[in-house]
Amino acid sequence: MEENVLRLTNLKQLSSSIKQFKIQIKSELGKLLQLIDQQMEQIQIEIETKESKLEIKNYDEEIQILSKNHIGNFNYNIPKPQTYKEKDLALIQLIQESIESQSKSQNFIQIMESINLIRSSESINQQASINQIPTKEFDQHKTPCLNQICNKHNKEIIMININYNEPKFGRLACVECIQENPIQYVSLKEANNMWNTFIGQSEDLISKHNCRREQMFKQVIEEIKQLKDNYNHSLSEMLSSIDEQFAKNNQEIQDFLKQENKQIFELDEKSVEMMIDLLSQQDKNKHILQQQDKQDRLDQLFYQNVKSKLETLIKHDLLCKQQLMVILQEQQNTKNIGNNVQTDIKISPEINEFMSKCQLQEQYLKIFTESANFKKELQKEASQLEQNGVLQQYIVLEEKNDTEDSKCNIFKQKYKQYEINTEKMRKLIEDDENEKQLMLIKKQKEDLKIKIDGKKLLS
Ligand SMILES: [Zn+2]
Repeated sequence: MEENVLRLTNLKQLSSSIKQFKIQIKSELGKLLQLIDQQMEQIQIEIETKESKLEIKNYDEEIQILSKNHIGNFNYNIPKPQTYKEKDLALIQLIQESIESQSKSQNFIQIMESINLIRSSESINQQASINQIPTKEFDQHKTPCLNQICNKHNKEIIMININYNEPKFGRLACVECIQENPIQYVSLKEANNMWNTFIGQSEDLISKHNCRREQMFKQVIEEIKQLKDNYNHSLSEMLSSIDEQFAKNNQEIQDFLKQENKQIFELDEKSVEMMIDLLSQQDKNKHILQQQDKQDRLDQLFYQNVKSKLETLIKHDLLCKQQLMVILQEQQNTKNIGNNVQTDIKISPEINEFMSKCQLQEQYLKIFTESANFKKELQKEASQLEQNGVLQQYIVLEEKNDTEDSKCNIFKQKYKQYEINTEKMRKLIEDDENEKQLMLIKKQKEDLKIKIDGKKLLS
């Protein structure tokens, strides 16, 4: 800034000096041209008078000349008759002196002063960085040079070419290169300053970016850690609850069987009652089987619970994923704000929350898309199995072997579930397809209407 103000002042000074010089020169040259014109006129007149009459100086004319040159006391300043050559020499002497004197005029001196001022004024950057340059590098030589020699001229490299568009001239230049090539070179000193500035700016840029990056990574680590803690906590809770649930298994029966090891007269009243109850049953294992059945149902409930806990864990997963996207977005925003201050609009918390939910929806939709793709794969596999005849084989086997929990039966149940789920998926996907179909039909209808209207107009 300061430097440009100085430059402007200097150039303004130079410009006004040149303008004044121009006016002065114009008037001076005008006068000289006038003198030349007069001389030429004189010559013309002489040519004409010589042609018309002989030059006769009579008495009257002599008197006239004398009276013109009378300076009093009968003294006469009689002009020396000038020869033509003398006349011309006098004129050109006058012209030469007049033109030469221009370089001594005040305006000319001012112009030269302005030029010298601009030439000697160093740039502020240069002044600052020269102080930082180790003295040995630039003080040894009057014109600093590189430790390389120009391939073409065998001379020291004293300037370099950093023009983006002119790589063909070679990047290193000696004195002769500079004279040969019509491009702008920069001195080594200048290049060194530019390099220092570049390094400074680059470091600044890099450290800013690193800072942003570090901030983002910290945030992401924080999120993942939270997810990890969540998982750790939930999973270890699950594991210990499974242990607990396992320990509950058959507890009553085990307790009872322990007592059974005792002799009948060692048992208390209640146990005797239970023993009699058990022994009096037709199916003596019924009690144990009932207990086991009850336990199985309790386990089923327990696993339902574990399953829903796992499902909430998936939600944490999605939330974390969403949070990462928010962080990325914020990063992008701060970068944009850095470039453009105008984008700094405050977003209300409600809108922020809504945007978060929108992103969550996107995550869910991704799961849906994955499901749809998985459905296609599964259908492909099913038809492959059908083609191989493997599928029918199991279904037929099941019909022959009718025990409740045979492996074929389990397979049949699973296959039925697969068919139900596939149908559900098909409906969900079809919904989208139907909408597309509907749009297509609507468009066709409109096109048809336009055609009919057009025909009506024509007929
Ligand atoms: Zn060279």
